[in-house]
Amino acid sequence: MYPKVKPALARAWRDLQTVQFGVTPAHAVVLGPVDTATGALIDRIDGTRGMDLLRTEGAAMGLPDGQVDGLVRRLAAAGLLDDATAGGPRAQAVRKRPETLERLGPDLGSLSLVHREPGGDLRGVAARRAIRVQVRGSGRVGGQIAAVLAGAGVGRVEVLDGGRVEPADVAPGGIGPDSVGRLRSEAAAGLVRASAPGRAPRAAEREGPETVPALVVVAPRDGLAVWAPDPALAADWIAGGVPHLYAGVLEGTGIVGPLVLPGATACAGCMERDRVERDPAWPRMLVQWRSAHRRRAAAACDLGLSTAVAGLAAAHALSFVDGELPASTASRWEAALPGLHWERTGIRPHPGCPCAAATLAAEEEVRE
Ligand SMILES: [Zn+2]
Repeated sequence: MYPKVKPALARAWRDLQTVQFGVTPAHAVVLGPVDTATGALIDRIDGTRGMDLLRTEGAAMGLPDGQVDGLVRRLAAAGLLDDATAGGPRAQAVRKRPETLERLGPDLGSLSLVHREPGGDLRGVAARRAIRVQVRGSGRVGGQIAAVLAGAGVGRVEVLDGGRVEPADVAPGGIGPDSVGRLRSEAAAGLVRASAPGRAPRAAEREGPETVPALVVVAPRDGLAVWAPDPALAADWIAGGVPHLYAGVLEGTGIVGPLVLPGATACAGCMERDRVERDPAWPRMLVQWRSAHRRRAAAACDLGLSTAVAGLAAAHALSFVDGELPASTASRWEAALPGLHWERTGIRPHPGCPCAAATLAAEEEVRE
């Protein structure tokens, strides 16, 4: 074991006996009481010394027997400890790729805050490398999401889209101007390759012979398909239990969510049934909107807003593949120009929807 105090959290003494690790409240930890010698020892727990050397140095500093081990246990219990050798075989495989780890340095730091156990950062990177995420759409939003996911270490990002790249698809961080006229699927695959930190993972680093992606991000060029998602398009994901996240821009509104967990949270079918119940004119309006969108060549899309939507959606997607449930789970986040306040709408399962999420929700209510 080569223990290391997580370097991602800034250290400051609140008083002579109390150390605070971290600035922002979400991940900051206060440790105390800590005497001066122990404080000096903390500085040496930096991943370059094994436990034996730390014990020897502790003894030389006049610390009593067992103090070093006690401190290391205390730091680990507080989620402050990393271990330069922990993380299991998949983490070891990642360690053999220094060029990838250098690129992912800030992401490793961030993962070390979310995963409290030693080696959690490398395990997180290894897990990202092992999975497959599918992005539907390669426009301003979809292209950027695919690039961010690949850049953050997701091992396989596949982008599905038809037709050829148009100038309006181009976005900084997304599909570049050189791709105009190319097949969208090819341009997006090139973008994913160029965004990835180092070479693609080998088959051994992947997770089993999976046939379905860990997550589908639905980011169509037409934002109407995010505002009012088509239940028919989601039917296979519902049947196959494939989690999917909607993201897009419609007119002056950016939308992130919902993240749908089939059978557990509301789906496109739930949303449609709910809307029809609340507004009898909805089906008639929807038909007109859909045909208008098919005819219309240029949709409105603010580049700042589409970039924010892509960034937030990618962060939610990463949080989900890292094993958490982000705030878009069963919720849609919307920000409208020009004020851009992010506002949340809860999406409730509908009892008439065949996805059966409402049944689960009702059962949970009974249990509570
Ligand atoms: Zn449903």
